[in-house]
Amino acid sequence: MLYFITLTQVCNLKCRYCGNTPDPAIEPIDITYTIKDLKSFLENDPEASIAFYGGEPLVRMDLMKKIMDEIEAKRYIIQTNGLLLKNLETEYLKRFDTILVSIDGREEITDYYRGLGTYRRVIENIKDIRARGFSGDLIARMAVSEKTDILEDVKHLLRIGDPWFDHVHWQLDVMWDSPPYQRYRNFDEWLAKYNVGISKLVNYWLESMKKEGKVLGIVPFLGIMKTLLFNEKVELRCGSGINAFTITTSGRLIACPIAPEFEWNHVGDIFRNKPVDIARKVMVEEPCTSCEIYDICGGRCLFANKTKLWGEDGFRKVCGTVKHLVNELKKAKSEIQELIRLGIVRKEDFNYPKYNNTTEIIP
Ligand code: SF4
Ligand code: SF4
Repeated sequence: MLYFITLTQVCNLKCRYCGNTPDPAIEPIDITYTIKDLKSFLENDPEASIAFYGGEPLVRMDLMKKIMDEIEAKRYIIQTNGLLLKNLETEYLKRFDTILVSIDGREEITDYYRGLGTYRRVIENIKDIRARGFSGDLIARMAVSEKTDILEDVKHLLRIGDPWFDHVHWQLDVMWDSPPYQRYRNFDEWLAKYNVGISKLVNYWLESMKKEGKVLGIVPFLGIMKTLLFNEKVELRCGSGINAFTITTSGRLIACPIAPEFEWNHVGDIFRNKPVDIARKVMVEEPCTSCEIYDICGGRCLFANKTKLWGEDGFRKVCGTVKHLVNELKKAKSEIQELIRLGIVRKEDFNYPKYNNTTEIIP
């Protein structure tokens, strides 16, 4: 299983859609359990992968390295804002299978949401880790909000460098907060524009296959096309509560990493429970389970399904983007099958992700 380890709640950025206001009354700011406690719990799972998470996990690089020294995991993954990557020794850097770096696209978009100068600092560090020989999966992780142009921002991240990013993934800045739509002047208009951008991006993806024989690493497209081509039936793709859990700073076990304050999310703790005890205690429910595309979508987001912070209406609006995305990819499927038949691209190119690498697939 995949375990997010919240190393700290401290972050060295203050992004517009997050604000970074951890509440020590909910969870301590820093880890209060011992590495021995963590090791005893994880030893019961021979398939344990570790994803370092925060706050900003590299703020506690010392602790992260100690955990890597003392606990052998199947894979190490990190979700980072990238600002401190330059300080991570190459020896540790190369032990990561996947590094997800938060960046929102072009410089002006990233800096607007994440703070002036962030883009340049992140890009410098990306160049540096590639120069130092990091050859794992480097994923650009975007938060997509009102100022994003999905076509332009994804294209930018796919092409920058030689290219530096293997994959680009995004999550919509929706249903995280209440009252709804705070960061949108007209959400309906924005959604319509976003959907047009998705159609154009699918087209761009297909054209690059035809012209370059290359399947660009657009994570939501790859993940859904994999389902369509390999005829899989999926469950909640981020795996929260199924095969992915978060260990909070106090050692509690929760399903979704972003919501330690909710009782429904609590499934146990590392002191008393074993990994086998905690799976499937919390799962998505209606309206997802009877949705016509449940087997393809998987329910998008457990947090949104449980909290519905934007009400039924907001939930339905966001589902509209999922349905549009799935439809566009269904339309592209036969063309892709033909490109596979002609040997221009390979079916295996769509076999991504091969393991739960913390990308949620459905934006
Ligand atoms: S499209 Fe919406 S309702 Fe359907 S499964 Fe996905 S999140 Fe649930
Ligand atoms: S997709 Fe939703 S449930 Fe899954 S990890 Fe992200 S916020 Fe949590």
